[in-house]
Amino acid sequence: MGAIDLYARKTAGFDERLARTVEVLRQAAADFGPGALQSTSLGVEDMVITDLIARHQLPIALATLDTGKLHAQTLALIPRIEQRYGLEVEVFAPVNEQVVHFVRANGEEPMYRSVELRKACCGVRKLEPLARMLTGRTAWITGLRREQSSNRAEVPFREDDGQGRVKVNPLAEWTWADVWHYVQANDVPYNPLHDEFMPSIGCAPCTRAIAVGEDFRSGRWWWEDSSKECGLHATHAEPSAGESESQASPLTFNATTGAPA
Ligand code: SF4
Repeated sequence: MGAIDLYARKTAGFDERLARTVEVLRQAAADFGPGALQSTSLGVEDMVITDLIARHQLPIALATLDTGKLHAQTLALIPRIEQRYGLEVEVFAPVNEQVVHFVRANGEEPMYRSVELRKACCGVRKLEPLARMLTGRTAWITGLRREQSSNRAEVPFREDDGQGRVKVNPLAEWTWADVWHYVQANDVPYNPLHDEFMPSIGCAPCTRAIAVGEDFRSGRWWWEDSSKECGLHATHAEPSAGESESQASPLTFNATTGAPA
C-alpha cells in the first residue's frame, strides 16, 4: 500500500485552500517577478508546488540543492520534472574543496558524533549552496506546512527570512491528506521513498522511515532531541513592515498570521 492509498483524502475546505495557494503563488510572481524562486527539496509538498507553477504557467524559476548525500530516488526526480513540465531545475552543489576538506577532517558521516558536526555538515553541504542559490533573489517559495511539526505550527503564507528576503509558504495551511489528494488528482510525480514511510526526505544518512504514530519529522536527525531543523528554515518571523509597504497587491496579508486577508 503506497502513500496515496494511505493518505489521500479530500476533506472539507480543500478547494478553498487550493484556491488560496494558487493566489499566493500568483501574487508572489506578480510582486517579485524574476526575483521569485522555488527552492525545491523534491519532497512531495514541493512537487505539488512545482505542479501548480507549471499548471498556472507562473514565471517562477526552480532550483534545488544536491548535497552529495541524497538518495538516488530523490535525484531521479530532477529529470522527471524537466521532462514532465518542460521546466529547468537549476542544481546547486557544495563547493568541492570544502567538502573534501570537511570529509578529510571529520570523516564521511560525522553527523552522528555531535550536533556541532551535524550542523557543520549542513553548513558545508546545504547552507553555503543555498546562499548562492538565493543570491539576487527577493523571494523564495517553500513547501513548509504548519502541520509538519511544532516548530512550524505558526508558518504564515509570507514571512521575512531574516536575510532581507521574503519566504513564501503557499501550502502553509494544507494537511498531509490535502497534499496526497492533490498528488492523486493531478498525477504528480513523487519520490517513491514516500511509499516507504518516509514523509520527510533529506540526505540519506539523516533520513529514516517512521513508525505509525511518530511525528512527521521524527525520521530526520532521529538521534538528536533538538528541533529537527538544519538551518534552512530556522525562523518563522512575521512579515516585515517593509514587505507590506513595498508590495502593493490586491491580496493583502494578515500581519499576525501571514494569511491572505
Ligand atoms: S542532512 Fe545530514 S548529510 Fe545532509 S548536510 Fe545535513 S548532516 Fe550532512
